Amino acid sequence: MARNTVIRILHSFCIPVAIAFCCCSGAAAGPAPEPPNLQQNLSSQHSHEEETAKIRKHHLKRLEDRLTIEPSILQESCRYESDISTRPPLKRVALTFDDGPEPGQTEFILEILKKHGITAAFFMIGQKAQQHPELVEKVRAANHQVIGNHSWDHPNFHEISTSAQAEQVLRNELLLANDLKPKLFRYPYGNSSCETNKLVHSLGYKIVGWHIDSCDWAFEKTGSVDIKEAISCGVLPQYHNDYVGHVVSAARARNGGIILMHEIHPNTIMKLEEIITQLQAEGFAFGTILDEDFQQSMR
Ligand SMILES: [Zn+2]
Repeated sequence: MARNTVIRILHSFCIPVAIAFCCCSGAAAGPAPEPPNLQQNLSSQHSHEEETAKIRKHHLKRLEDRLTIEPSILQESCRYESDISTRPPLKRVALTFDDGPEPGQTEFILEILKKHGITAAFFMIGQKAQQHPELVEKVRAANHQVIGNHSWDHPNFHEISTSAQAEQVLRNELLLANDLKPKLFRYPYGNSSCETNKLVHSLGYKIVGWHIDSCDWAFEKTGSVDIKEAISCGVLPQYHNDYVGHVVSAARARNGGIILMHEIHPNTIMKLEEIITQLQAEGFAFGTILDEDFQQSMR
């Protein structure tokens, strides 16, 4: 991205946001629990790095498209509908975890949720659910946790044919049919299409986006976000090195909402309890996307 483009973005986006939230205090750091198993094998770690690189690439592409393509044209193409623009229920938040199930991490997330009496939604990749049926069973057995369809193997729907998109949805559904009650779908990378919108609606799905992007993938690499990631994720300057602070400030900014996180990042779950307790300390109540007042946030 050219330097002048970055400056233009900073002026048009970051400064108004910074002004709007200049009075927000930084999040106080609390003790974070240690996950039971952070030892990933090398191939798993490698695939996570690849996935993080892909998320970054698609995030920045979305930002570029938004800056260079007329909003009406983007709207007609249904390409980026996962950022929910409507207001969430006031001071209510709902956690969602994508890209699992993930050995070691799914179990830990369930433990934390149980400890705090919270119900979350797990948008599973079909191929991984097939590889780890025991983890699907654990989520299924956990009290009230919700399972959603997150495609078969997580391609970018903007880069595959309409029929391939349909196959991605249907193959996941074939595996998880008994768990998809109700039927909830989330696009990989949030990259949507008009054709698949129609398909999933005809199949009885609701499409679930998010109000709050934790951008956990960006913080995962070094604990900090770079300037492009910060702009793309809407991370205020004071939180460039503070994942928890970013999530809490984003929740504050939207006054609640559906929060996007990923099961595959160890930092996400290491900080999960801290995020929960800080949000609760700020008066946010945890609900689930199945709750009545979250229904208007889904499509
Ligand atoms: Zn995903």
